[in-house]
Amino acid sequence: NEGIGSWPARRARKTPDRPALIHEERSFTYAVLHDRVTRLAHALRDLGVRRGDRVAYLGPNHPTFLETLFATGRLGAIFVPLNIRLSGPEIAFQLADSGAAVLVHGESHTALVDEIKPDVRASVVLTGPASGAHDYEALVGTARAEPIDEPVGLGDPCMIMYTSGTTGRPKGAVLTHGNLTWNAVNVLVDTDLVADEVALVAAPLFHTAGLNMLTLPVLLKGGSCVIVGGFDPDATLDLVERHRVTFMFGVPAMFQQVARSPRWAAADLSSLRVLTCGGSPVPPTLIAAYQERGLTFLQGYGMTEASPGTLFLDAAHAVSKAGSAGVPHFFSDVRVAGGDLTEVEPGATGEVIVRGPHVMPGYWGLPEETARAFTDGWFRSGDAARLDADGYAYIVDRIKDMIISGGENVYPAEVENALLAVPGVRECAVIGVPDETWGEVGRAVVVADPSASLTEDDVLTALAGRLAKYKIPKSVVFTGALPRNAAGKLLKARVREAFGT
Ligand code: AMP
Ligand code: MG
Repeated sequence: NEGIGSWPARRARKTPDRPALIHEERSFTYAVLHDRVTRLAHALRDLGVRRGDRVAYLGPNHPTFLETLFATGRLGAIFVPLNIRLSGPEIAFQLADSGAAVLVHGESHTALVDEIKPDVRASVVLTGPASGAHDYEALVGTARAEPIDEPVGLGDPCMIMYTSGTTGRPKGAVLTHGNLTWNAVNVLVDTDLVADEVALVAAPLFHTAGLNMLTLPVLLKGGSCVIVGGFDPDATLDLVERHRVTFMFGVPAMFQQVARSPRWAAADLSSLRVLTCGGSPVPPTLIAAYQERGLTFLQGYGMTEASPGTLFLDAAHAVSKAGSAGVPHFFSDVRVAGGDLTEVEPGATGEVIVRGPHVMPGYWGLPEETARAFTDGWFRSGDAARLDADGYAYIVDRIKDMIISGGENVYPAEVENALLAVPGVRECAVIGVPDETWGEVGRAVVVADPSASLTEDDVLTALAGRLAKYKIPKSVVFTGALPRNAAGKLLKARVREAFGT
């Protein structure tokens, strides 16, 4: 077995006594993890799971997520992580689309699972038996512990991960064992992780970044992962101190909330060594807030379909190239391409395209969508970027989110960064709205600090002179909260629906 399902066994051979997973008051060594994964693999096989079958997991971050991933991989079956924030019909869709044979779910989802009645062969509930479901701990406790050895190759599918669906209906990206392995190698090569890293896993494991930019690379290297069931900024700072956390990954919104915690100013952050931020543009104001505490962000750009690491900005360039998403990962080929797929000149804008051993073979059951996503073997990201003279890429925006105002291209992300520098602006989104004169004009949707009593005029006056006139939104609307997905990513389509007319 060359797949990632073999990792616990390989780690247990090398570092059996090191803590692999830490969760609340419990700590599992690699030897214990290996034993539990082996038993779970037997239990899943006894439930009828065979090579190529799909095993879905629905629950917040918990050690059982990783056990189920590894056990599924041991059998050559395919793991399907589901987003816990999805509605019943959305979960039902992903279970049916993937054709899941087994669903492992948390107790908090029992009522929802009863309601949608998924057509699965077996359900396994994590804590305490529920009607008709198997109890996870009972399965692991009674299953055999003898070795299981299924032939699994790097080209075999390991996981179906549904893209977070900021646009359209979710598609299942099929990621092979090789895709995930090469991504983990890229992270280890480019992040300089050491063997005794202590990682804080508060980003959701069911999203690509929390799993693949943080957890799997640390487990490959033999470090420890502190698994956190739900993100809370104050608790994050407590855990950093208690476990002497060295490595954290999050989307900008998470780091933003941590910096606003009342615990922030007095927190002992001296153990932190590596902070990686990615998944959406990292506002310069956020970089500055952490720099004041002597902390530098590494920044990553990627997408579910690329497992996800694609571009990476290392520590040495975090300051001199602030705002850039960096250069391609070691085993990744990336171009900022014009219409003919060749690289654009420095300073010009093009589409990010990517090729490499970490890029998915395709979408689950969607040959036409797969064909449309690739051109000559390059995956088309749909993101616009610009290259500087040293080859560093700056992600400008989603091509689809671009506003064309009076013939000028306006990239909302640039305007949003300017808005975030306006005192009293907490969060914002810029969308295009129809305009008789200009075709389209920008509208800023702002979440303001309640104490700042900002007005539309204040915001527009603050932007004047900072941005070209055509980039300045023509209107500002205030709201209490912006729609985000479980990864904290802004749902532009929902902002447009709510504020676009
Ligand atoms: P997902 O499909 O959920 O994995 O999201 C991938 C998308 O997130 C990319 O196509 C980009 O639009 C966006 N994204 C990821 N990382 C960054 C980043 N560092 N800067 C800007 N946008 C990003
Ligand atoms: Mg996408």
